[in-house]
Amino acid sequence: DHSQKSFDRVMLKISGEALMGDQGFGLHPPTVERIAREVQSVHEMGVEICMVIGGGNIFRGLQGSAQGMERTTADYMGMLATVMNALAMQSSLESLGIHTRVISAITMNEVAEPYIRRRAVRHLEKKRVCIFAAGTGNPYFTTDTAATLRANEMSCEAIFKGTKVDGVYDKDPAKHDDATRYDTVSYDDVLQKRLGVMDASAIALARDNNLPIIVFSLDEPGGFRGILAGEGTYTRVQ
Ligand code: UDP
Repeated sequence: DHSQKSFDRVMLKISGEALMGDQGFGLHPPTVERIAREVQSVHEMGVEICMVIGGGNIFRGLQGSAQGMERTTADYMGMLATVMNALAMQSSLESLGIHTRVISAITMNEVAEPYIRRRAVRHLEKKRVCIFAAGTGNPYFTTDTAATLRANEMSCEAIFKGTKVDGVYDKDPAKHDDATRYDTVSYDDVLQKRLGVMDASAIALARDNNLPIIVFSLDEPGGFRGILAGEGTYTRVQ
């Protein structure tokens, strides 16, 4: 049953790779703009929007450490990559006329606001999009965990995890014709069956706070708005 009350405040989590288009690395401005327009169409509904964008299109801590870099340093580089992505998205959203704040977990006052919870809540109340950058500010975490943490702090009603596929499948739909999509799936099944929605710490943090995760396709034009309007296909982790 997909019926649900409408949402007033949501967290949108996308990976850094969602911003690179077909390039295989970095930022592809037309792709950033396409996603900004998806956000715009939800903003027009009056929904308050938080965003967390990963950094994997630029740098991942694990990759750096696999190549001999010290892990925590590599993780800080990954966090800095998320700030670059956040600034690109801010620029794109503001060119569409949407007031946007980048709020960084690592202080860099010339570039982004520091994270102050009550100030961020105020931005949301004023219908400004808040992009939470630099992850949690701690190494050994991911931006999925950062999205879950901030979604809890901001009292979001759900995390919308935009991916390449329209939900969670029992096996990889790119490799198996008979893969089936779950309408709903429990946090514990996601963890036990290693369904790969988000990393285990993020799933556990969502579970312990009853925060639903809506997995949907970001490649589907109008998909984000559609779900908020009660349409479309997706999986709800609950
Ligand atoms: N990162 C971190 N702490 C955090 C969030 C991110 O150390 O709280 C680092 C980590 O090295 C990670 C990189 O930032 O690999 C980029 O984030 P992530 O891999 O989550 O990006 P995505 O896969 O979503 O693009």
